[in-house]
Amino acid sequence: MEGRDRNLHEECGVFGIYAPGMDVARVSFFALYALQHRGQESAGIATSDGHLAYLHKGMGLVAQVFNEKNMRPLKGHMAIAHNRYSTTGTTSLRNAQPYLIETLHGPLGVAHNGNLTNASRLRLKLLQRGVGLVSGTDSEVITQMLAFPQNSNSWEERISAFMAEAEGAYSLTILTKDAVFGVRDPWGLRPLVIGNFPSGGWALASESCALSTIGAELVREVEPGEIVRLDANGVTSTQGQPVKEKALCIFEYVYFARPDSILGGQAVHLVRQRLGEELAREAPVDADIVIGVPDSSTPAAIGFANAIGLPFTEGLTKNRYIGRTFIQPDDRLRQMGVALKFNALDANLTGKRVIMVDDSIVRGTTAGPLVRLLRQAGAKEVHVRVSSPPVRYPCFMGVDMATQEELIAHRLDVEGIRKHIGADSLHYLSYEGLIRAVTAGASQPSSYCTACFSGRYPVPLDETWLRQRKSRKESFETVRE
Ligand code: AMP
Repeated sequence: MEGRDRNLHEECGVFGIYAPGMDVARVSFFALYALQHRGQESAGIATSDGHLAYLHKGMGLVAQVFNEKNMRPLKGHMAIAHNRYSTTGTTSLRNAQPYLIETLHGPLGVAHNGNLTNASRLRLKLLQRGVGLVSGTDSEVITQMLAFPQNSNSWEERISAFMAEAEGAYSLTILTKDAVFGVRDPWGLRPLVIGNFPSGGWALASESCALSTIGAELVREVEPGEIVRLDANGVTSTQGQPVKEKALCIFEYVYFARPDSILGGQAVHLVRQRLGEELAREAPVDADIVIGVPDSSTPAAIGFANAIGLPFTEGLTKNRYIGRTFIQPDDRLRQMGVALKFNALDANLTGKRVIMVDDSIVRGTTAGPLVRLLRQAGAKEVHVRVSSPPVRYPCFMGVDMATQEELIAHRLDVEGIRKHIGADSLHYLSYEGLIRAVTAGASQPSSYCTACFSGRYPVPLDETWLRQRKSRKESFETVRE
């Protein structure tokens, strides 16, 4: 098939709003801005005025996709919005969200964050029913499944029916003729929160940082398995499916979420600080200064420095206008990305024994060039401390972390990685340390998905899907084989 989609991963930001009297498209635009870290490949907003639905989406950053002219037609009092993150190279507008289709029940828009682990089976079922699909994403599969009549009387029934069949991660915002819905999978793998505006109106967002940006207050999280409906009557909740073992992605705390977000009742920044403190207790070292890899490691570096009693300072300056290195399609470009992104602050580094705290090592392409940069700037010693355990297992639930072969901790032990990155010493936070730091401030006991560190996957993994994912083939091919 022409223009095959090789992007099987969805690691995105979603938003939804029901707010009569507000310019919901503009509010969505600002919310997407706040969620930009969750996806930089494409952005889109769909709105509805209760009669017609409107959509604009495009490739690139939020600010590249939207302007006054293309936002003007986005009328109405409700909207959903989406930022897409893709890491495998090929990008395509067909994969951009929200999806907006016409159904028997009126317009249907869907924005999805996560990854279905049984997507190929569901895709095949749709194709057998005669439903045509235009993209390679499981998000389109979700949209088509929701559209199916299924002798149902309400969107809640159709959404529950989809949930009964779906396995894996999905945080959804859904736009219909008269309501916006928020849905979270029964494991609660990806985050989704509800907020309200003091002047009236409701919003849904992947992270609470988006609510703060648009002047909404965080009310609560959408619970695992829950469907919330935002409409003229306010918020109505239905349990779409019973809660499975709760499994919020722990990597959201380690790296993915913004530090000013509240996740599981905890400020992400504070959790990261505790990760750094734990790490300092586990792997102290004699040195002069502690630096972080900006920006995601800064809180952990602060925690490390406080716990060890050394000054935290800046050793690397980051160009914030260059996208995450991960979006580069191959290793060579990724390494160039590191050089484009960071400069060393010689004045702080010359003659110093430096502890560099990073939040994670995934493929191992960032740490090595950074260590070299610090040495070139005159650092006498460079000790690397990682505020999470080695990533040895791929994520199938929405965070793209490469295939297992690409994960450096799958191929090498800690000493091998130390040599590879050229550090004087290297220590990772222990698994127990990670759990301690994350649970210490949790308002209620919870469990997390730790699959990338532990190899224990909370959701069943479909064999066909796994094979496809491993070979990075897109579903069209497999279905046609
Ligand atoms: P790597 O170079 O592959 O080892 O990636 C590790 C670096 O990328 C760390 O500095 C992290 O802050 C960052 N990182 C970790 N996971 C991801 C991810 N899923 N997407 C983008 N960046 C990431």
